[in-house]
Amino acid sequence: MITLTYQYKLRPNKQQEAEINLILDVCKSVYNYALRERKDWLSSRKSSIKSCSIVSEYIIPADAPYPNYNNQAKSLTIAKKTYSRLKSVNAQVLQQTLKTLDRAFSDMKSLGKGFPRFKKKLRSFVFPAMLKNCLGCGQVKFPQLGWVKIRQSRQYPEGFQAKQTRIIKKATGYYLMITFTSSELVPDNPVGKVSLGVDAGVESFIATSGGRLTKAPKFLLDQLRELKLLQRRLKKKKIGSNNWLKSQNKIAILHEKIANSRRDWHFKLANQICDLADNIFVEDINFKSWSKGIVRKQSLDSGIGQFINEILPYICWKRGKYYAKVDKNYTSQECPKCGHRQKKKLSDRKHNCSHCNYQENRDVAAAKVIRNRGLIAVGHTVNKNACRDGLAGVQLSLFDLLPS
Ligand SMILES: [Zn+2]
Repeated sequence: MITLTYQYKLRPNKQQEAEINLILDVCKSVYNYALRERKDWLSSRKSSIKSCSIVSEYIIPADAPYPNYNNQAKSLTIAKKTYSRLKSVNAQVLQQTLKTLDRAFSDMKSLGKGFPRFKKKLRSFVFPAMLKNCLGCGQVKFPQLGWVKIRQSRQYPEGFQAKQTRIIKKATGYYLMITFTSSELVPDNPVGKVSLGVDAGVESFIATSGGRLTKAPKFLLDQLRELKLLQRRLKKKKIGSNNWLKSQNKIAILHEKIANSRRDWHFKLANQICDLADNIFVEDINFKSWSKGIVRKQSLDSGIGQFINEILPYICWKRGKYYAKVDKNYTSQECPKCGHRQKKKLSDRKHNCSHCNYQENRDVAAAKVIRNRGLIAVGHTVNKNACRDGLAGVQLSLFDLLPS
């Protein structure tokens, strides 16, 4: 299945605006309540008998189950029957809020993020299931809100259905993020002859196994620089003042501009990649956790995750190309020619194999490893010749590529 996310400016009427603010407010209460519940439970387990004080004593029974998502969702359903405020908001939206909290806790464990905090304000909420035929010309139909006008800055993708939407409140108004999924389960396109590995580069935006290195375009970097500047200026302004609002507005407009030009560039680039091969292979990277690294700063702003996970598969699908993800482990350490693994520092720009002396740009080498893994996955043989032109082709079997 393919997903795409588009952003639009929302133009709610007065009544809808009030409704959105009510939802945000109720969601905030639910979030904070659920967080308090988890916090209390955790604190009640923390205090050992020795340090047990009045402060750390809680009235939670020792066998009370941890308020995980399922338990909290159950309590919410019950509470909804008695509290009219809860009743006034779509049940799925509230459940989604609990999911958000749940994710904050799992991110804390897996990504090392901080302990979730109580929210003074909630900026957004999600309708996890959109109605059929919810996309109208210049308007979108939501559960609870009905038809809401949007500024349709771009067409909805063809052959796609809106699956979920997020409504975001910013200083400059309300925005909408629609996640589209392909309406039918799309069968993979057949495997073709020519294969290409695509790697999210350290220095470049992407590198291909064919040796192409693509940097983020200058206009995009310029826009991002301008955005940083505006954000720095915003900090110096008094919150809520006229100048502050003006500044916020400027930033919002620039954000939209960047999102649009970035998307256009991504579509172009994806099409160029599809011109080069029949089979496109990428790494199975979780860009969310990857972004914690210092490495990615530039590429992250360029939306590498969205490019690899949304736009590239979408264009591949449209163009009849085969797209697949391969195991991400050690792609940057492995030699594409002999399979030997050696550690690289981030500052190492070159792949220089101590085993077979193969030399290559670091990112291109990784792209070649990705291509090799893709070839094996689709049952093609890996041709050594592809690594160095002019050499007689030597067929490597799967076993040659396994680490010794
Ligand atoms: Zn080697």
